Amino acid sequence: MKEAARQARAESRIIGLVPTMGALHAGHLSLMERARRECSPVIASIFVNPKQFGPKEDFSKYPRTFESDSEKLQGAGVDFLFAPEPREIYPDGFATYVNVDGLSDRLEGRSRPGHFRGVTTIVMKLLQIVQPNLVYFGRKDAQQSRLITQMARDLNLDTEIVVCPPVRESDGLALSSRNVYLNAEERKAAIVLYHALEAAKRELNAGVRDALQLQAVLHRTLGAERHARVDYAEVVDAESFEPVVRVSKPCYVLLAVFIGKTRLIDNLYIEPKSPGSEGLVFHF
Ligand code: AMP
Repeated sequence: MKEAARQARAESRIIGLVPTMGALHAGHLSLMERARRECSPVIASIFVNPKQFGPKEDFSKYPRTFESDSEKLQGAGVDFLFAPEPREIYPDGFATYVNVDGLSDRLEGRSRPGHFRGVTTIVMKLLQIVQPNLVYFGRKDAQQSRLITQMARDLNLDTEIVVCPPVRESDGLALSSRNVYLNAEERKAAIVLYHALEAAKRELNAGVRDALQLQAVLHRTLGAERHARVDYAEVVDAESFEPVVRVSKPCYVLLAVFIGKTRLIDNLYIEPKSPGSEGLVFHF
């Protein structure tokens, strides 16, 4: 992989990287398409990163669909697929980690200790191997995208971090590799995450700015679905990911909800129409 990337750099080409864990869906492919518009070559990586799974999480049963993934990538016009083995990435004696302080400990980080250290470490390694001009992430994982942007800034990386909007099913459910865990009944129930975000948007459009009031609406909507168990439902500042009291600056409504045994996340990004204005723009 390093050799191919060196070659592309020697030819002064614009290298784009799209890191994934495979089990590819239309959300991943939207990142590939964006990368293809802006870069050549486009490199996709597939690596189910053991270091970002907790001991009780789904590492061993995470969906692995390598054959169909590589066909999808070929169809999407991706130039290289980098799919290393865990022992190649973490040989015996591996000892160096990247951690973004503070931001890594909140929300997803609090529910999944060590998760973000695993994420930032693998992303840093992929960026070192490929040294792309641009790297693409999905805003579906809002906190992850924010952390990686912070890491790139803090460590003076020469790669531009591009964050792309989430792709959803026609009923609003955000595409996720973990959706395959849902049975038919749970799949129907999973739509409650999107409904909760819509409910928050309705409140905001009705003039509500108080975060506690919004949180109450989120909990009321999620609580009405018997298959759903809320991990967190919060309104946070889009920079710090600290809870806000009022929605006045760019914010995220962030959800992590168990549907049966499957943990799903989703978010709504909210920004003022113009600085200081009361009007809001919503990005699902
Ligand atoms: P994963 O394979 O789940 O690690 O995801 C790889 C990349 O795809 C990450 O940057 C995700 O944020 C992004 N991604 C996952 N789901 C979606 C989606 N529904 N829409 C857009 N991007 C997504």
